[in-house]
Amino acid sequence: MNYLEAEFHDLLREDARIFDFLENTSLDGLWFRDLEHPDQQWMNGRFWRTLGYDPETMPHLASAWQEIVSPKDLALARQKMKEHLATPGSVYDQIVRYRHKDGHTAFIRCKGIAIRDEHGKPIRMLGTHTDLTAEMKKKNLLRRSQEVARLGGWTVDLKAGVVYWDTVTRMIHEVPDNFVPDLQNGINFYKEGSSRETIKKLVGAAIHEGKEYDTELQLVTATGREIWVRSIGYPEFEDGECVRLTGTFQDIDARRRSEERMLTYSILEAKSKEMEQFAYIASHDLREPLLTIIGYLEVIREDYGDKVPQEVHELMNTVDEATNRMDVLIKGLLDYSRLSQIKQLQETDLGEILQNVLLDLNSVTKGLKVHFTYHELPVVMGYPLELKVLLQNLISNAVKYRQVDRPLRIDILSNTTSSGWKLSVRDNGIGIAKKDLQNIFQLFRRLHGQGTFSGNGLGLANCKKIVELHGGQIWAESELGEGSVFHFTINTRDQQEKKQTK
Ligand code: ADP
Repeated sequence: MNYLEAEFHDLLREDARIFDFLENTSLDGLWFRDLEHPDQQWMNGRFWRTLGYDPETMPHLASAWQEIVSPKDLALARQKMKEHLATPGSVYDQIVRYRHKDGHTAFIRCKGIAIRDEHGKPIRMLGTHTDLTAEMKKKNLLRRSQEVARLGGWTVDLKAGVVYWDTVTRMIHEVPDNFVPDLQNGINFYKEGSSRETIKKLVGAAIHEGKEYDTELQLVTATGREIWVRSIGYPEFEDGECVRLTGTFQDIDARRRSEERMLTYSILEAKSKEMEQFAYIASHDLREPLLTIIGYLEVIREDYGDKVPQEVHELMNTVDEATNRMDVLIKGLLDYSRLSQIKQLQETDLGEILQNVLLDLNSVTKGLKVHFTYHELPVVMGYPLELKVLLQNLISNAVKYRQVDRPLRIDILSNTTSSGWKLSVRDNGIGIAKKDLQNIFQLFRRLHGQGTFSGNGLGLANCKKIVELHGGQIWAESELGEGSVFHFTINTRDQQEKKQTK
């Protein structure tokens, strides 16, 4: 024995302060149990203080700590203790969860050895505690943040031919906890085709050429879901030979999908801008020759009106009607294409707008029986002229598409939503077939001939554009013969942000 070690042993025997010092500085708890009277157990002060208790108030009984141990861990401890007592020379070692006095879970590593009599019979047990709570907290936090980030880890031990996946990696693959991965089945999770070929090449280059990789590929999980993952791999070499690959594995599906959505959205937006421009140019340029036709018809009438036979007059009237209809359509298209020109958002009182719309509609509804109800409408940040057109179109459609044999009823409802307002215009008119509910918002889409109901099929297309300008959506619910409800939303939160950034 080293002389210092021998000196130390002597000191320990002779000077009680040395033991006190050790007991209070190097351990989070010390205990000594009488195995012949197993409830008798001495626990030092530090044992209880680590768990939040005042040692003065705690009895030296095993039942005192057994009450605050997790029942599962207690059962395991009893089992392990039996094994330890049956195996002389072994060390009892277990991480046990205690309920700390303030309620949190304390993770305590408990190690112990049995003290035996001259016949080898265990009569006492000496144990030490080490508090691992802070360490476990850090580990748990790390694990939780990895779960949130869906970031897993993996290792391929090429020497032992063993592949290890951590919990998150298994979670991303949607395999059970007892799944045994190997290099081949790991690669087979990658989507057949370019993803699988790419990972094979990258793994090959990592093993043979020492190249690290960082790539985004598609994976098919055990339940058949296709997802995007980011896979990073590092080769480790010993004596010029690759012995291990380690890496991270992250589920980036949500990010990839939102990027794809953004791309589709910007393509659609560009297409719709293109379409608007086309509509503007076409309608603008079409109007000019049309005005020439209308002008020359006028000249023919004035200069040659008395020289042409009656039949030519009638033909000219038909041309006149057709050109006027075309003029209305072209003007409508022109208005539609001008709708999205950026204007200033204003505080807009929808209640006031509604009153104006109803006043304007008076001449149309005169002589009709109309039962009209509405809630108090909100004041929103919006484009007043456009919002007036919106309400005007919806209400005049409710009037136009009424049932002739029943008094007309129109209700306007308003509700708040998480992002603004939802307004609804409900009528008891002729209704719309389910299959047409989506189409009616398209340009020039009409469900009836000119002979039944007049119109140009632009009203609802305009409504849709106006609602979208206000960051909202428009849709209809209807039952043929029962009436229709047109709902639209206005996103006031976004409008508010737009205003603030101006
Ligand atoms: P228009 O009224 O000029 O035909 P709209 O774009 O306003 O064009 O409407 C498109 C079509 O939707 C109409 O032709 C009509 O068939 C149907 N529609 C619109 N509003 C109603 C309603 N309130 N009730 C029944 N059908 C409607």
